[in-house]
Amino acid sequence: MMQAKDFFEVGLKFHGHKCPAMPLGLRAGAAAMNALGAERSQDKELVLLAETGNDHAAGCFVDGLMTITGCTYGKSNIKKTYYGKMAFTLIDTQKQKAVRVQLKPEFFGKMLQSPFVQQRKQGVPPQDVPASITDPLVEGVMKRAEEEFLDISPVFDYPFEKGKGTFDTDLCEACGERVFVHKLQDVKGKKVCIPCAEKTK
Ligand SMILES: [Zn+2]
Ligand SMILES: [Zn+2]
Repeated sequence: MMQAKDFFEVGLKFHGHKCPAMPLGLRAGAAAMNALGAERSQDKELVLLAETGNDHAAGCFVDGLMTITGCTYGKSNIKKTYYGKMAFTLIDTQKQKAVRVQLKPEFFGKMLQSPFVQQRKQGVPPQDVPASITDPLVEGVMKRAEEEFLDISPVFDYPFEKGKGTFDTDLCEACGERVFVHKLQDVKGKKVCIPCAEKTK
C-alpha cells in the first residue's frame, strides 16, 4: 500500500519548494498505484502518460507523480501529452493493466482560487509565499479523502509493447563524440551525430 506521506520529504527536496500541487501529485500517484496494486517503479515496470502541459501547477503535480511512482524522465518511462489536463494514465507493463486518474474538475477549479494562487498571480515566487498560507493548504492536500478530489477510473487492459533499448555506441565521424548507434545519421557516407548532421544542411 503506497502512502503519499512516506514520500513527502523526498518530494519536497526533489521539487525545490513547498506548494500544494506537488503533494497532489503524490496523492494522485499513490491512488493510481494502489488501484493497480503496483510497487514503485525500480526500472520501467510502470509507465506514466501525463496529460499535463507546461502550465502553472502542472509541473509541480508531475514532480509529485515522478517522486512516488518512480516514473522519471531519466528512465524515459514518463511522457507528457500536453493536453493541458491535470490527469494521467499509469500503466503496469507487467500486468498489462492501467488506470486513469484526474483531479476532479471542480476541485482543481477551486484550488486555482486559493490564497496561494493569488500570491502567485501577483508574481510572488512559490518559495516566497508565506508559510501561513502554504502550510494549511499542503496539510489539507495530504489529509483530504481521495474521493473528494480524485476521479479514479476502473482498472482496464492496456496491451503494452516494450521497446528494445540499445547498449551499442559508435563515434561520430565529424566531432568524435560517442553516440548511441540508432541516433547516428548517414551524411554523404559518413556516420555523424544529429548536431553535426544539422551543421551540414
Ligand atoms: Zn510547486
Ligand atoms: Zn558529431
